[in-house]
Amino acid sequence: MTTRTVLVINSGSSSIKYQLVDPDSGASLASGLVERIGEETGAITHRHDGEKFELVEPVPDHGFGLAEVLRIFAEQGPDLDEANIVAVGHRVVQGGHYFSGPALVDDDVVAKIEELVPLGPLHNPAHLKGIEVARRLLPDVPHVTVFDTAFFQDLPEEAARYGLNRQIADKYSIRRYGAHGTSHHFVSGEVSALLGRDDLKQIVLHLGNGASASAVVAGRAVETSMGLTPLEGLVMGGRTGDIDPAAVFHLARVAGMGIDEIDRLFNRESGMKGLAGDNDMREVWKRIDAGEQEARDAMDIYLHRLVKYVGAYTAVMGGLDVLTFTAGIGENDDRVRAELCGRLAHMGIRFDAGANAVRARGPLTISTPESSVIVMVVPTNEELSIARQALTLI
Ligand code: ADP
Repeated sequence: MTTRTVLVINSGSSSIKYQLVDPDSGASLASGLVERIGEETGAITHRHDGEKFELVEPVPDHGFGLAEVLRIFAEQGPDLDEANIVAVGHRVVQGGHYFSGPALVDDDVVAKIEELVPLGPLHNPAHLKGIEVARRLLPDVPHVTVFDTAFFQDLPEEAARYGLNRQIADKYSIRRYGAHGTSHHFVSGEVSALLGRDDLKQIVLHLGNGASASAVVAGRAVETSMGLTPLEGLVMGGRTGDIDPAAVFHLARVAGMGIDEIDRLFNRESGMKGLAGDNDMREVWKRIDAGEQEARDAMDIYLHRLVKYVGAYTAVMGGLDVLTFTAGIGENDDRVRAELCGRLAHMGIRFDAGANAVRARGPLTISTPESSVIVMVVPTNEELSIARQALTLI
């Protein structure tokens, strides 16, 4: 079979991440990052065939950045003509109530992503720039958008709606949209495929710098921890996760803080960073091992929140078959996995310490055969998921 590839693009406000994916084998043929777009000096890193190519130069805008990427592909390989790109897949964070799956980009899709900017003010404008320049520079292939919210677009109403005044909620589109959906969709699908069952009650814990949990029954998401924005839910690298919204009123009234200041405090200066002094779990463990009580307390707060979500989602689903860890912490931090499973022993979870200590690149089962719940580690691959979803439309 001739190779076919999908170019996956994740365009941020000052960066473009890209990956050339073979959707059939799952291989990544090249990947890279354009950074510091619009700043005095930018940088482009391109990886291909185990080689890393780096270029430091001003990148005034996204159009220039992507044109440079195409030039670097021509110079450093792989040759994009030979790669047979059949689609460009664009990651989009906020698809609102419009998109429950991938969409073939046309003017209407672009207009809807634009309309959703108030719900994704940091991300959607940056995605629109990426889509615009990619369509211009690669006009002969179909472009497909894959939304982080799509997997959760179909959440049961009782899970998606807050206890907020209905008129206000509807007028301002306030509901739970979730995020990380591409990862939860991919990982829960991998688990079903690996176990050969499509009737599973699953919880997926996506624990990266951002972190979210989802409950999935027979392939359909029924709950997720992120809400109107990614702030809700688990304790994260820099985000509070769940917090009484009255803390906002209190900080405004008592501390005289402005909305933007509180936004920054909750989204960037809290979580593990604000509790333990560092958002990187490896550093938090170092501090714990050095005897820092604040770091240990932060870890306990992090784990406690996870226990609450696993318990709540098990109750929502009326049981649990598989608990899966993924993303930076979920895939690499065996101590977080061990401590969480220890706290869930009352649910019949029996944990295999030997299997948990294995550093595998692929999926791993870390529960024993006696465990009432299968516990797995499954690496997420959002680029591959975007590539495969894009293919479904062409
Ligand atoms: P993002 O949300 O930025 O995509 P990732 O899923 O890449 O994040 O996760 C990044 C986080 O993973 C880091 O901040 C760090 O806390 C954690 N991490 C990465 N490697 C390890 C490791 N070996 N042990 C513990 N934590 C790790």
